[in-house]
Amino acid sequence: MPVLVASDLDRTLIYSAAALALTMPDARAPRLLCVEVHESRPLSYMTETAAQLLTEVGDAAVFVPTTTRTRKQYQRINLPGPPSKYAICANGGHLLVDGVTDAEWHARVTERLAGECAPLSEVQAHLAVSADPLWVRKHRIAEDLFAYLVVERELLPEDWVKELAVWAENRGWTVSLQGRKLYAVPKPLTKSAAVREVARRTGADLTLAAGDSLLDADLLLAADRGWRPGHGELADSGWAAPAISALPERGVLAGERILREFLKASRTPR
Ligand SMILES: [Mg+2]
Repeated sequence: MPVLVASDLDRTLIYSAAALALTMPDARAPRLLCVEVHESRPLSYMTETAAQLLTEVGDAAVFVPTTTRTRKQYQRINLPGPPSKYAICANGGHLLVDGVTDAEWHARVTERLAGECAPLSEVQAHLAVSADPLWVRKHRIAEDLFAYLVVERELLPEDWVKELAVWAENRGWTVSLQGRKLYAVPKPLTKSAAVREVARRTGADLTLAAGDSLLDADLLLAADRGWRPGHGELADSGWAAPAISALPERGVLAGERILREFLKASRTPR
């Protein structure tokens, strides 16, 4: 029976230049592989060693990229290793099978959202009136499922984020702040539900997971074993769970460590 490896991508396996967090002297920095180009510029990286490890994970397990990115944002990433049969985008709103969205899965998700939380339009309207143009650079809607803002982190008032989180909570939504992006996502829109569906379809008997943000908490809790890096919302809030290892590594080196752990656990006889 296969092992399922469901991993968040941004700031878990792949890193923007701003998120690399390299601390060694430049002459001893690891060689980096660019895995995403956006508007003709390099955007995301992993270490060369991590690229090799990901290839090995892809051979040893069913590797499922599990991201909050839209399908379009996901599809411009060029990961090393065998192509993934399954990928989870839009925080579980889209399940790609051989690169094509599973319409039945998407319909099931939207039906659940309609019944269990406030509509996107209400959240969108609230953000439009309450977010200050002083620190908001962009208002975005992702896949007609959730909203996010691109913000100036240094100018973003912490209290406003806390107030928004309470407002959202009362409407069945959750708020997550990751780098320059502030996400408002319906609570029933989860990575874990989509991962469970992939586990069912593949007959996997062991699920491994990794993630760095609050939107990854349910993914980690649903896995048999998981890892989180030493940076990010989960690390900053001291989030912990019995089957989840809190790694000390930060930045792009955490990605390498996570892949090493995936590989070790995938190859351990069960
Ligand atoms: Mg992440």
